[in-house]
Amino acid sequence: MMQRERLRIAVQKSGRLSDPCFDLLDRCGLRFRRSRDGLFCFGEGEPIDLLLVRDDDIPGLIAQGVCDLGVVGRNVLVECSGAEANGGVCALRDLGFGRCRLAIAVPDGREYVDAASLAGARIATSYPNLLRDWLVRQGVAAEVVTLAGSVEIAPRLGTADAICDLVQSGATLAANQLREVETVLESEAVLVAAAALPADGRSDAIELLLRRIDGVTRVRGSRLLLLQAARDCVDAITAALPGAPRPTVLSMDGQPGQVMLQALCPDELGWRQLEAIQRAGARELFVLPVERALA
Ligand code: ATP
Ligand code: ZN
Repeated sequence: MMQRERLRIAVQKSGRLSDPCFDLLDRCGLRFRRSRDGLFCFGEGEPIDLLLVRDDDIPGLIAQGVCDLGVVGRNVLVECSGAEANGGVCALRDLGFGRCRLAIAVPDGREYVDAASLAGARIATSYPNLLRDWLVRQGVAAEVVTLAGSVEIAPRLGTADAICDLVQSGATLAANQLREVETVLESEAVLVAAAALPADGRSDAIELLLRRIDGVTRVRGSRLLLLQAARDCVDAITAALPGAPRPTVLSMDGQPGQVMLQALCPDELGWRQLEAIQRAGARELFVLPVERALA
């Protein structure tokens, strides 16, 4: 391993993971100055720099010690992890964005009952390792056709009978007269690292980053609910809270029968939910956004 004092994180230069990744780093309080050639982003406060690359290169850059951490889809991590050159790269955290699934889809008109329906079929994919593993687990013998891109048009071109590709909404499949039939892998962006984390000056930066990522992801989308109520209503109100958080109940000075209640709700609180909580006896309800948390 190279000796470096500054932590280096590999992130996708441009693509689906770039914006949410920069947004996460921003929420972690990290600011960067981009190098003129657009390859690096230099951290302004903390000793953390970014290397901007194609997502497929990230596991290899970490395995070689060029970067310490990286952000990739689990699909890329698992697909690459079979290669010896990428040995030992593993996921440290799920990041909650870039959600999609690697799915098998067949032409609308093709009959499909279960995995056995794929026996003898040619399946086009950019994820040959993941697909082969899945076929082995299903006990199905099919031909894997590896394509670098435009997998979804292979059935119409007659070069494949089915595809195995990333799906988010399913719109691309529908536009190509394909129907999703199996899920091979559920994916989201993950923070990856070599199995052995650096033990030099970079370890403080890793600790800072993980603590802040946890502080952001733990409360992402959650809301703090504050309200007042008669003590007798606390059970009914607790039952009405979505996501079953455990509320904190505080007594109010000079009002023995009254309490103030606060609860961290995992999701947005809509009007209907608030109205149900109000019917359970709550008054003075406030819903506050939550930006970060520190245990
Ligand atoms: P690069 O030029 O960096 O190689 P790419 O074309 O491989 O880019 P993108 O299409 O930007 O990559 O996708 C990056 C990651 O985003 C995927 O590996 C996957 O984890 C995630 N992702 C989320 N939704 C989708 C989707 N609908 N299609 C493809 N990838 C998706
Ligand atoms: Zn890629």
